[in-house]
Amino acid sequence: MDNTRLADLLFPDVVQTPEELEEIYPARVLPEGAKVTRFAPSPTGFVHFGGLFPAMVGERLAHQSGGVFYLRIEDTDAKREVPGAAQALVRTLARYGVRFDEGVTLDGERGDYGPYKQSMRVGIYRVYAKFLVRKGLAYPCFSTEEEIEELRRFDKKEELKNTDWTQAEARRRAEQKEAREITFEEAKEHVEKGEPFVLRIRSAENSERKVRVTDLVRGNLELPENDEDFVLLKSDGVPTYHFAHAVDDHLMGTTHVVRGEEWLPSLSKHLQLFAYLGFKPPKYMHIAQIMKLDEKGGKKKLSKRDMGANLDDYSRMGYPAQSVCEYVMTLLNSNYEEWRSQNPDKPYTEFPFSVKKMSVSGCLFDFDKLEDVSRNVLSKMRAEEVYSLTLEWARENDPAFGEILAGNRDYACAILAIGRGGKKPRKDYARLSEVKDYMSFFYDELFEFRDGPDDRFSKEEIRKCLSDFLENYDEHADSAAWFEGVKRISAQNCFCPDVKVYKENPKAYKGHVGDVSSFIRLALTGRLNSPDLYTVLQILGKERALARVKRYIDAL
Ligand code: GLU
Repeated sequence: MDNTRLADLLFPDVVQTPEELEEIYPARVLPEGAKVTRFAPSPTGFVHFGGLFPAMVGERLAHQSGGVFYLRIEDTDAKREVPGAAQALVRTLARYGVRFDEGVTLDGERGDYGPYKQSMRVGIYRVYAKFLVRKGLAYPCFSTEEEIEELRRFDKKEELKNTDWTQAEARRRAEQKEAREITFEEAKEHVEKGEPFVLRIRSAENSERKVRVTDLVRGNLELPENDEDFVLLKSDGVPTYHFAHAVDDHLMGTTHVVRGEEWLPSLSKHLQLFAYLGFKPPKYMHIAQIMKLDEKGGKKKLSKRDMGANLDDYSRMGYPAQSVCEYVMTLLNSNYEEWRSQNPDKPYTEFPFSVKKMSVSGCLFDFDKLEDVSRNVLSKMRAEEVYSLTLEWARENDPAFGEILAGNRDYACAILAIGRGGKKPRKDYARLSEVKDYMSFFYDELFEFRDGPDDRFSKEEIRKCLSDFLENYDEHADSAAWFEGVKRISAQNCFCPDVKVYKENPKAYKGHVGDVSSFIRLALTGRLNSPDLYTVLQILGKERALARVKRYIDAL
């Protein structure tokens, strides 16, 4: 058959050639070893937690090597597309510090290899589609969309029942063979009637042949050569993932394709396409799926319905993006935690990320571990940073608390600064949603009594100690002098000022200085556990502190 005539019949409007496109998208000029990677999500309005893995790997590989990392939006499946989802996606990823050099942005796109939205590239795919038809490597198939869908449904049913696979496969081959033999005249007749067609690849004759490929995570693989005439262009002219992948990653100069392992079974299709199109294939890395433990302790895929599958869940739950990224790094590279303990203060971007240290078998998602990681991350932040993250979280999730925080930044930062900065910083919260609970007693409008007075002591005794405290309070005393004051009050009230001495002869005293501190602590904070009392007093300020103690004495 005259393939050129067929190509012109099917794509009369396509005048550009692949060579012309190659000129528009020349090979990138980059330093030796620089990697070009991309994140290529479909805008379904849902960013899966697992999506962060290829995104972060792609980002690390590119930026660690002085290369380019770009965002391509794979929006060819209009049925699945949610309006505004691409922008929401860009926003979510930005929150996670996934920094793109090129691609779709909040208000358009940037970079020389665009458009970066597949729906805007239909003209480009058609150039290569025409090229493949001209070469005899693709052919039209005029079954209607419904017929194709019917076939697919039938295949599925067949698969499910698992009956007579061989027969189903034989039928598929027979149908494929028949479809392939379409003549120019037949095609012309269909086209003249205005019938739509899908474009299929003319695959290898048999799958006995093997193709060898090295996956950078999985090692050397041997795959059966593709013998399925899969669809390249759907009947509306929109490409399938396979076709768009080959064309886009070639033209955009991707050197490393980092994607989920669910694409591994399609790899031989992709290699065939690259070969047919005369493109050098990129290097591939198929990343293991995220698993979780099910009720019976078995591993199962983290599915869309699971808590924690949606990346936005984490912000709602109050995990700072930094914690989530830190956690993902521990899952991605087996030596990350060791590096972290040796480099506690460096950003994760300084970790020498290595593909070789990636797990092939799948990472297990574990909330307890995330909690642990997040507690550490939050304990190492500056108070101002925790403040702005908490404020941001509260504005979205607890506006009343947001108002309170925004009302006095310095006050909030002073509270959040307690126990920070040293070698062993306090680790009071793992989530931003827990910060309110931690700091609430500092605010009169949130103050409440969590604990009651110790019933080993009479109200009279407590009242007396607290009244002495009020009388002797010196707001200018330093921490040591302050504590001396508490000891004095203790001694005056028959509480031993030295705990050790008390323990030698407890009967000689009503209690010890620690008990007196607890009276003060409860009056000031409503709790028996709180950060260092002297610091709490300094932050509360004389007026508020003394008013609380007075009120407490009156209510006893
Ligand atoms: N759009 C595909 C997905 O979301 C991208 C896979 C790839 O990175 O090539 O799974």
